[in-house]
Amino acid sequence: MLLTITNERTPATDLGYLLHKSPERLHSFSLAYGKAHIFYPEATPERCTVALLLEIDPIGLVRNRRGPSGDNHSLEHYVNDRPYVASSFLSVALARVLGTAMAGKSKHRAGLVDEPLPLTAKLAVIFSRGGEEAIRKLFAPLGYEVKAERHPLDENFPEWGQGPYYALELRKEVTVRELLNHLYVLIPVLDPDKHYWVGDDEVDKLLRKGEGWLKTHPERDYIVRRYLKRRGRLTRMALARLVDETPDPDAELEKKTQQEEEIEKPLKLHEQRLNAVAEKLKEAGAQRVVDLGCGEGKLLRALLKEKQFKEIFGMDVSYRSLEIAADRLKLETMPPTQKKRIQLVQGSLMYRDKRIAGFDGATVVEVIEHLDEPRLAAFERVLFDFAKPSTVVITTPNSEYNVKFETLPAGQMRHKDHRFEWTRAQFQDWATALAARYGYTVSFFPIGDEDQVVGAPSQMGVFQR
Ligand code: SAH
Repeated sequence: MLLTITNERTPATDLGYLLHKSPERLHSFSLAYGKAHIFYPEATPERCTVALLLEIDPIGLVRNRRGPSGDNHSLEHYVNDRPYVASSFLSVALARVLGTAMAGKSKHRAGLVDEPLPLTAKLAVIFSRGGEEAIRKLFAPLGYEVKAERHPLDENFPEWGQGPYYALELRKEVTVRELLNHLYVLIPVLDPDKHYWVGDDEVDKLLRKGEGWLKTHPERDYIVRRYLKRRGRLTRMALARLVDETPDPDAELEKKTQQEEEIEKPLKLHEQRLNAVAEKLKEAGAQRVVDLGCGEGKLLRALLKEKQFKEIFGMDVSYRSLEIAADRLKLETMPPTQKKRIQLVQGSLMYRDKRIAGFDGATVVEVIEHLDEPRLAAFERVLFDFAKPSTVVITTPNSEYNVKFETLPAGQMRHKDHRFEWTRAQFQDWATALAARYGYTVSFFPIGDEDQVVGAPSQMGVFQR
């Protein structure tokens, strides 16, 4: 299996910096199903080509039950196209050996990461049942000049005609990161074979690698379905997340959250809120806790300081927030004993997710008001019916208090992305009915200094099962 990428912008050997692989030597890696080698057949200032050669071990595939399905003794296990055809194995290898480049990081050429370069990618053999048309449909909308040359079934017997295999060449001024992410997603789309790694986290990977292009690709639904190998549930989950009508919770949200913080800052409200939530979890004796909609990880940081919490799980729908959280928590350099306690995952509160089931405590801090009211029902089922933690702590603004914020114009909500802000009565009505429905009891607490008339700035419900 061979992939080459050529850069024709002088100094072309900068490609080596972008890929974190020096053109001067051979780089070899052992993978579960064979070996990957990276080398540079040419490396001049004008033209530099990197090759990723994947040696698949068909016997190893059988041993690991990762080869084609069917009878274990059949010849197909030993003689098949897996070693030659670009497939999901190539994507796995790309992520393994060029993962840093795919994430858009470069130590020595950071400025070059976002610069489109005149790149040509060649795949020696890909499979396409839908012919050249199917290949073109995937790559052309992304702006690639596509050349697909069909391989004859057997060069020695031209009368046998053409096979379903093609040599593919793609050209475009594109960043290395984008090219790698496009290949990562689209190669398995063309490969009809089952690959062994389709699991729930595959949806996260697909969305991450597809960030910035998959959502608007005209063949989006087809790509998602084929990438996830027609697993209906996963496909629906991925598409729902891609077309989620809640606005992109990333870039915009950061800005709006800052505005909200400005409004509430004089009260140090968020600090009080996080302390109150942590206190309730401690009182409940929770040891394994999940923070849903953890954002940039402020509560996670507070929880880490408390030894009582043995396992801390943070989930958010926004990948960018999670990256910021990982940075702020210094996850990468955390001592292993600490690091074992914490895990961050991308996920949505709108979908059942077994990763969040079975915790002692769950927190949902300043999140529900970001969900569309009609969709709260889905959230309720996901958390109270499916994940069922023993204790749930939910906080949300008290809208009655808004009149007291000097910088907040009358009638406006604190955060432009809030779908609603509730009075105390509204929150308590919702929470009481919800608790009764799912067999919980609930008590309410004010957060921040209480005003006689309008109450405290924020409110908290503690649910217990
Ligand atoms: N709990 C954090 C962040 C609150 S901001 C704190 O108190 O500091 C609201 C967070 O909810 C954002 O990080 C947003 O990405 C997340 N969010 C919004 N909709 C979500 C959904 N459907 N599933 C999971 N997280 C969601």
